[in-house]
Amino acid sequence: MSLTGRCLCGAVSYTSDSEPLSVTYCHCDDCRRVTGSAFNVGVRVPASTFQLSGKTKGYESTNDQGITKNREFCPECGSQLFTRYPDMVFIKAGTLDNSEDLQPTREIWTEMAVSWSKIPDGLHKFSRGGT
Ligand SMILES: [Zn+2]
Ligand SMILES: [Zn+2]
Repeated sequence: MSLTGRCLCGAVSYTSDSEPLSVTYCHCDDCRRVTGSAFNVGVRVPASTFQLSGKTKGYESTNDQGITKNREFCPECGSQLFTRYPDMVFIKAGTLDNSEDLQPTREIWTEMAVSWSKIPDGLHKFSRGGT
């Protein structure tokens, strides 16, 4: 399986010829804030297999262990696309073109998970958008 994906407006796209090394649900506060949603789903691939087309902007931060990561997004439409580490890239799963085959492997920072991160039973369901 080769991975391809893009932002909402299409100005930025990417490919990786790696299989996903892991598919991780992350409930940390930073992921919640940057995605604007309950959690992030990150698909890890080696940086050497990752090819970017188009220009991103990034927000860089350094953790307690001195490891710097860059959260990159499309400056045109604002889609958060991936986080780049020195050796690996965590693709945001929702930006993949074909994510149906992904096999989630782990869930981290579960102690920070918000109660609404699980979709409750009994909601009114609409197979297409509803109001
Ligand atoms: Zn875009
Ligand atoms: Zn996180």
